[in-house]
Amino acid sequence: MDRYAVVGNPVAHSKSPLIHAAFAAATGQALSYGRLLAPLDGFAAAVAGFAAAGGKGLNVTVPFKLEAFALAREQTARAQVAGACNTLAWRGDHWYGDNTDGAGLLRDLLHNVGATIAGGDVLILGAGGAARGIIVPLLAQAPRRLVVANRTQARAAQLAADFASDGPVAAIEPAALAGERFDVVINATSIGLGAAVPRELWPAGMFAPGALAYDLVYANDTTRFLRWAHEQGVTRTADGLGMLIEQAAESFALWRGVRPDTAPVFALLRA
Ligand code: NAP
Repeated sequence: MDRYAVVGNPVAHSKSPLIHAAFAAATGQALSYGRLLAPLDGFAAAVAGFAAAGGKGLNVTVPFKLEAFALAREQTARAQVAGACNTLAWRGDHWYGDNTDGAGLLRDLLHNVGATIAGGDVLILGAGGAARGIIVPLLAQAPRRLVVANRTQARAAQLAADFASDGPVAAIEPAALAGERFDVVINATSIGLGAAVPRELWPAGMFAPGALAYDLVYANDTTRFLRWAHEQGVTRTADGLGMLIEQAAESFALWRGVRPDTAPVFALLRA
């Protein structure tokens, strides 16, 4: 039976085994999918051991996406844009690397959530690896403008400079967001769960009427960012569970040549 796994550190919390088991059952694919905990200084060795034992493919999570990119001898164009891989496929003697995060987000936004990016004002909060992977797919939808705001301004400025030729992208200091209005606000920071968003982090009032607040973070509870959006009267919200499932479906399609239906898996995980 072909073997796959999610590799990360930590990895015990990952929902990927559940998602891929559901995809395999629904598409009639015989495969096993487990978890691979790699030491923080031992990613390459762990991945080599997995391939030597017959492993066919890996999903890569925190903190190894950059190392996975460096390890892959061949990479897709979208992985090269992101400079990171969340998916590895074993090609007999080397790893082929892909990045399905951007495509997963876009599919969730457009097909599941029903968002419109074309012609809209879009804001990304955060400028880490996830932000880098979603900018080009978002720009390809022709927003009126795409603004990136990050705690460390230099990282946002770097992203805007790197993708200037792909569309109307600009970096803004978080404080300068006061008075701005956006149709879609995407949280790509790792502020996650817990206490309220600190007042000084982002100015309130940047959601246009009818705006969508989308958090890459997902949880059974409402995330900090989505609570903050609700407090400002935003009613259209989604967390990153749909993106997680859609990026997994892209990985599954790369490995198995079959695209699974994601709706039943979303219902299963939400329940
Ligand atoms: P990353 O590369 O470590 O970047 C983290 C980002 O969060 C940076 O912009 C960082 O700002 C910002 N940040 C962290 N703590 C902050 C704080 N206290 N206040 C303000 N900003 C803060 O992480 P990543 O890979 O981009 O991932 C970001 C989030 O997306 C994670 O929660 C990850 O789980 C999630 N994600 C979800 C999916 C999915 O499928 N749903 C896929 C990928 C990622 P500085 O630059 O100032 O440090």
